[in-house]
Amino acid sequence: MRPGQATRITTTTVGQMSRLVCCPRCNEDENLRGERSGDNIFIVCEACGLTWQRDLTPRCDRCGSEDVRPAFQAVVEKSRGTQLSMQSARLIHLCSHCDAALLADYHKTNSPLMPDELPTATE
Ligand SMILES: [Zn+2]
Ligand SMILES: [Zn+2]
Repeated sequence: MRPGQATRITTTTVGQMSRLVCCPRCNEDENLRGERSGDNIFIVCEACGLTWQRDLTPRCDRCGSEDVRPAFQAVVEKSRGTQLSMQSARLIHLCSHCDAALLADYHKTNSPLMPDELPTATE
C-alpha cells in the first residue's frame, strides 16, 4: 500500500486520515515530533533527523488550489419557535475558482455567509 518513492508530502491524503503527516525523506510517520516556533510548526523526524516546516496553507478541498480567501460563515440554529438565530460565525476558506460567485457576493454584502443547509424553518 505504500506509495513507492513518494517525495511530495500531502498532509491530508484521502485514505490516510490517521496519518496526518509523514517524513518526506524516509516516510516515517510515528517517530515525529512537532516544534513550535512563532507561527510556524516544524516537524522533526527522529528516525532520520530531517526537520521541515509543516504546511499549514489552506487549500481548496475540491480543486487543490491555494488561492483561497478567508470568509465567515454564520452558524445558524433554530431557536425555540420558528425563528432562526445566528449563534456565531466560523472561519472558512473560499476558493477563488470554485467559489467565485459566492466570494463576490460575500465581498459585496460584507456579512457572514449563510450555511449550505439551513434548519428547516418558516418565516
Ligand atoms: Zn525521516
Ligand atoms: Zn477550488
